Amino acid sequence: MKNSKETGWNLDNSYARLPKSFFSSINPTSVRSPKLIILNHPLAEDLGLNVQGLQSEDGAAVLAGNQIPEGASPLAQAYAGHQFGHFNMLGDGRAVLLGEQITPKGERVDIQLKGSGRTPYSRGGDGRAALGPMLREYIISEAMHALTIPTTRSLAVVITGEPVIRETELPGAILTRIASSHLRVGTFQYVAQWGTVEELQTLADYTLNRHFPDIEASENPYLSLLREVIKRQAELIAKWQLVGFIHGVMNTDNMTISGETIDYGPCAFMDAYDPETVFSSIDLHGRYSYGNQPNMAGWNLARLAESLLPLLHDDEEQAVKLAQDAISDFPSLYQTSWLSGMRAKLGILNEEAQDEVLMNDLLHLMKKYRADYTNTFRALTFDTQENTALFEASEFVQWRKRWLERLDRQREAKEAANQLMRNSNPAVIPRNHRVEEALEAAIERGDYSVMERLLGILANPYAHTAEQADYATVPVSTAPYRTFCGT
Ligand code: AMP
Ligand code: MG
Repeated sequence: MKNSKETGWNLDNSYARLPKSFFSSINPTSVRSPKLIILNHPLAEDLGLNVQGLQSEDGAAVLAGNQIPEGASPLAQAYAGHQFGHFNMLGDGRAVLLGEQITPKGERVDIQLKGSGRTPYSRGGDGRAALGPMLREYIISEAMHALTIPTTRSLAVVITGEPVIRETELPGAILTRIASSHLRVGTFQYVAQWGTVEELQTLADYTLNRHFPDIEASENPYLSLLREVIKRQAELIAKWQLVGFIHGVMNTDNMTISGETIDYGPCAFMDAYDPETVFSSIDLHGRYSYGNQPNMAGWNLARLAESLLPLLHDDEEQAVKLAQDAISDFPSLYQTSWLSGMRAKLGILNEEAQDEVLMNDLLHLMKKYRADYTNTFRALTFDTQENTALFEASEFVQWRKRWLERLDRQREAKEAANQLMRNSNPAVIPRNHRVEEALEAAIERGDYSVMERLLGILANPYAHTAEQADYATVPVSTAPYRTFCGT
């Protein structure tokens, strides 16, 4: 199609060469009157795409699913998943993988249209997405990227010109999602449950080739694969915890093999520090609360380990032992990552045995005085006094003294510690009230300027500029914030 030259699409689809049961070939369903409303220019350029080309009518037609660019072989991926602990057959019910863009650097990344119409995996759903949640995913995934947390990215949002029916009628939209792949724990669960061992091996080999080429030649590559995913996820979840990110729906289908954060549904950032924080309206028992995220990641990885059992060893007992050993490493891998990140947040450059006590004492006080998570670390970084109960409490004054003594004991210059803190404590996070304000302006009034400004502020969270200060204030509302998924 003529389109490719002008827009820079350079697509292949290696997934389409996998066994037929892994996916269903299907085109996106055309939409009435597509209009590009937001395009990620730097990302487009990194991908080797032409910004002007994408903004043209033909360019937008691709992002809406109305035109298929050369090299694409659109398909919906099959996967399963434990949703809140219950195993289900799922699959892309409202998304289509156009293919993999080969970037100018030679990297291979998935190009997926989310909200692109019904597929064989839609079950009762309409295959569509509403504008609000797609813009929300755009804002938060890009904020996560700027926070240097591995994540899928957002290239564009188009409105379809068609309504979607939820509780009310809402404008329909399609998000173009970029991922190093869409392989999930649930992809392995699907093949382990319904495929053959040969198919499972094909999937594992594909994964090794795509994500872990260095370990392909190791003695037991499938065990190495499992161990590598466990390591990446331990590091990822530690990063979430360190910025106060709550995913909200850590089902096994929403956990990638690549170690990228995926599926921004009911996610949100915590304001006041409290491990029990939950935003998702459907998470009634706090399964995916802030403090429970590491446990849940471990649980999900155990499901991955189970799926890989037939490949780990010919002898089942031995396979189980290898899997258990790998899984039992998760807590310490997580803890090591978290400790190192928390040391950085506190400007600590070496290790002392008592560091963890110092950290936990701070967190304990933050919880007791309902201190804002982000702003407390920011105030420590800039040595400012927040006008809050925490900063007025004598036990916090005591803690601060201990912390400063700890910093004095390290030989490194004060500036080095402070620089580390600036680079580890964001000035801004996507505060819920700011995100809502941006979405409301876009959806109710067609005004995208509020969102553009927010995206600009969030694009460089470690810059600590004056204009970011405005976006750092905590919401005044006392009602608990609620998020919704499946919308
Ligand atoms: P999610 O909550 O986005 O992770 O989705 C869980 C499952 O529900 C996946 O299989 C989705 O493809 C499917 N799904 C979510 N929304 C829709 C929809 N509007 N139409 C069809 N399938 C959907
Ligand atoms: Mg999902």
